[in-house]
Amino acid sequence: MERIYNFSAGPAVLPREVLEQAQEELVNWQGCGMSVMEMSHRGKEFMGIAAQAEADLRELMGIPANYKVLFLQGGASSQFAMVPMNLLRGKKSADYLNTGEWSKKAIKEAKRYGAVNVVASSEDKNFSYAPTQDQWKLDQDAAYVHYTPNETIGGVEIFWTPETGNVPLVADMSSNILSRPMDVSKFGLIYAGAQKNIGPAGLTIVIVREDLIGETVAGTPTMFDYKIHADNESMYNTPPTYGIYVAGLVFKWLKEKGGLKAMEQHNLAKASVLYDCLDGTDFYHCPTARDNRSLMNVPFTLKDAALDEAFLKGAKAHGLLQLKGHRSVGGMRASIYNAMPIEGVQLLAEYMKSFEKSHG
Ligand SMILES: *Cc1c(COP(=O)(O)O)cnc(C)c1O
Repeated sequence: MERIYNFSAGPAVLPREVLEQAQEELVNWQGCGMSVMEMSHRGKEFMGIAAQAEADLRELMGIPANYKVLFLQGGASSQFAMVPMNLLRGKKSADYLNTGEWSKKAIKEAKRYGAVNVVASSEDKNFSYAPTQDQWKLDQDAAYVHYTPNETIGGVEIFWTPETGNVPLVADMSSNILSRPMDVSKFGLIYAGAQKNIGPAGLTIVIVREDLIGETVAGTPTMFDYKIHADNESMYNTPPTYGIYVAGLVFKWLKEKGGLKAMEQHNLAKASVLYDCLDGTDFYHCPTARDNRSLMNVPFTLKDAALDEAFLKGAKAHGLLQLKGHRSVGGMRASIYNAMPIEGVQLLAEYMKSFEKSHG
């Protein structure tokens, strides 16, 4: 079977060039006689791979020198706990924006460690939009402000950066990191699970301003202390070595493609193919507010949910897979991360039009 177009929300599509290079180097990495999977994480080969991956990520995102880049495990879900454990720093509460399923999980976990002030919520409209900052009730004494710039399930993206003054801004960028340029200096901490836009599942990236770490809540496990990982260059214990290697290949691929500005253009072009298709008909419906239409995850429903199964079956026959929406939302969702080629999105739009013709 040829490769299909994979619209999965995560683990998600990876660039074909990256997979081919990993394949070529799988058994014997650059003539060293071993696979990357077999290397000591403290040997010079792997230390070089990790250092290069970090350098390329710093270059791509323009990460300032006073920020640490950590290669961790445990997924974004572990960050829901690590963030309050490390960033409360003696304060009583933290501010959280609630824009959907991932925000809710982050809030629920943070409540185990302190009080949570929900600054604004879009639950009133089924999480189909993001409240603008004039609607947020920020607390000047909050330890930090947490938000989810791209809600992967609802397809709600925030394209502006919140202004939080001296209160550090924390972002769960799991599904939109590296999709467009972002000013890292505006953030206290950014985290992302790798399996959407970075590489294989199992690696979690944390970018944190160094003055924010070092003061954890009592009882914090050693492995949940950012400072431990920072002081040990993410090698306090065995890091997810193969994931770091593949992420490094993805960073190289992004640089070759022209970096994040070029990626943004590519992602805007892909998203507009899909949103134009959805706007041109009543047969399909996109529930997301226009200002918050995600460039990465495009949810939509069919006029008649009874056609969902036929839609998915036909899509599969065209090599278009993993389009079924999240169980909490229903309908369809097309995730179109960096590695999704525009041809895949065009083919999906063509298929949608032909399905409408035969079933509309
Ligand atoms: C996927 C996702 C998560 C959960 O990531 P895990 O790595 O499975 O823990 C959290 N937040 C967002 C925005 C996500 O897209």
